[in-house]
Amino acid sequence: MSNTKYIFVTGGVLSSLGKGISSSSLATLLKQSGYKVNILKIDPYINIDPGTMSPLEHGEVFVTADGAETDLDIGHYERFLNTSLSKGNNFTTGQVYLSVIENERKGNYLGKTIQVVPHIVDEIKSRIKAVGKGYDFLVIELGGTVGDIEGLPFLEAMRQLKHELPNTQVLSIHVTLIPLIRAAGELKTKPTQHSVQELRRIGITPQIIIARSEKPLSKDLKKKLAMSCDVADDSVIEALDAKSIYQCPLNFLKEGILTPIARHFAIAPIKPDVSEWDMLVKKIISPKDEITIAFVGKYLHLKESYKSLTEALIHAGANIDTRVCIKWIDSEALEHTQGAELGDVDGILIPGGFGSRGIGGKILAIRYAREHKVPFLGICLGMQLSIIEFARNVLGIEKADSTEFAPDTSHPFIYLIEDFIDQCGKSQVRTIKSPMGGTMRLGEYECVLRPQSKIAAAYNHAKVVKERHRHRYEANPAYRSLLEENGMQISGESKSGLIEAIELEKHPFFIGVQFHPEFTSRLQAPNPIILAFVKKILESKGATQKSR
Ligand code: GLN
Repeated sequence: MSNTKYIFVTGGVLSSLGKGISSSSLATLLKQSGYKVNILKIDPYINIDPGTMSPLEHGEVFVTADGAETDLDIGHYERFLNTSLSKGNNFTTGQVYLSVIENERKGNYLGKTIQVVPHIVDEIKSRIKAVGKGYDFLVIELGGTVGDIEGLPFLEAMRQLKHELPNTQVLSIHVTLIPLIRAAGELKTKPTQHSVQELRRIGITPQIIIARSEKPLSKDLKKKLAMSCDVADDSVIEALDAKSIYQCPLNFLKEGILTPIARHFAIAPIKPDVSEWDMLVKKIISPKDEITIAFVGKYLHLKESYKSLTEALIHAGANIDTRVCIKWIDSEALEHTQGAELGDVDGILIPGGFGSRGIGGKILAIRYAREHKVPFLGICLGMQLSIIEFARNVLGIEKADSTEFAPDTSHPFIYLIEDFIDQCGKSQVRTIKSPMGGTMRLGEYECVLRPQSKIAAAYNHAKVVKERHRHRYEANPAYRSLLEENGMQISGESKSGLIEAIELEKHPFFIGVQFHPEFTSRLQAPNPIILAFVKKILESKGATQKSR
């Protein structure tokens, strides 16, 4: 029998309480204590994956190295645990039902009646065990809130696992909210009591309560919560709103969360080494320097859809003791103001994106960065547009475009990846055909860097790097020599010759990358190209201040 210890994290009272951050924080503390830890997010929705879900509903789609389009919590897990996860670290109700139904179609159940209990629940349990295999701990975050109809099969799987395994192998943590009633200045425990009662009705008694709150919980209130939720007095963990999410592991540690965990699992005291983490958090909270980057995007009311990128800027900043302030600029609005908002920023960043809305504003920002020699990083769509801007304004090819926005353009500098598959042979490119149309290049690819280029220097003169992709369109190699002859270098390409990175020779830092460097950035290991960008900005800002 496997000895993996399972820690289930459920949520009560409200959604968006930070179960993902709580799960990541706990897993981080265990990992920093020398344990082998894996982590799993279960999403109770029926979609097969979040790839086709609107960012309006779902925030960012995070892409794993093996090309899965997953929930944004997987991004938090990777950033906290400093590790690459895979498609197995996230599953949905839809995926569970799909396997069970496929098995039924194949006759694997020998004609039995297929039911939620046992078949769906068994499938859930076997998936959980598969992810835990070979690890000391598996932290399982159950999406949604206790009481949701769609979460029931997962809670039943959790109950059954607890029944099947020794008591010292399964622990349940409930994350809840202690609301503050402002008029009375009082913190209220009743919603938490109800939520725990609901869990108990299903046969689950949590051992630890993580209580989110705006105000510190008094000793008496903690005692009252412990009593009413039937947990030990030391097992109510206060989780105050933090200045940075990366403070949470440290706060949990201070609150003593590891004591009841070690006790429940009957293991020696758990002692994490958080010295490096602590130092980085201090640099996030009170850094020495500050820079401002223009972030020119179109989902600005939805900052969650750029989560990995904003976190990557925090990581890079922390590593050079600098706060990276973001000036959010709506690309559509920029067209009307002709770029006036760009005058006071230290660097310009164009993130990935889809569709034609706001393209003009982004191209305007790219031109500004190129002409004013402002440090610039273009990611995915950002790289594609910097090629188009160069073609239009430097090469004078006004009609230069992407077939994404102008399908019949006479100058397709950016074109559909399907064309390229035909040219270089399908076997070299890992893609998925989406039922929504088009073919996405997804997941990790090798990128060969041109020696002596700025991007190679950013990656410490590596010859080949691995980064993750999520796009349909590609830079058209037919224009390669035209670009290079005029000062835009192709500084990175895939082994099959796809253009992966560009840079301008006569510019202090103007780099575009077809991949998404933000997906591999972690607090303890910032992404090299984002780090180089931020460093360059700090350096040029210092130089301008000195020359004043
Ligand atoms: N829309 C572009 C494409 O599909 C860029 C995508 C992106 O920026 N992720 O190729």
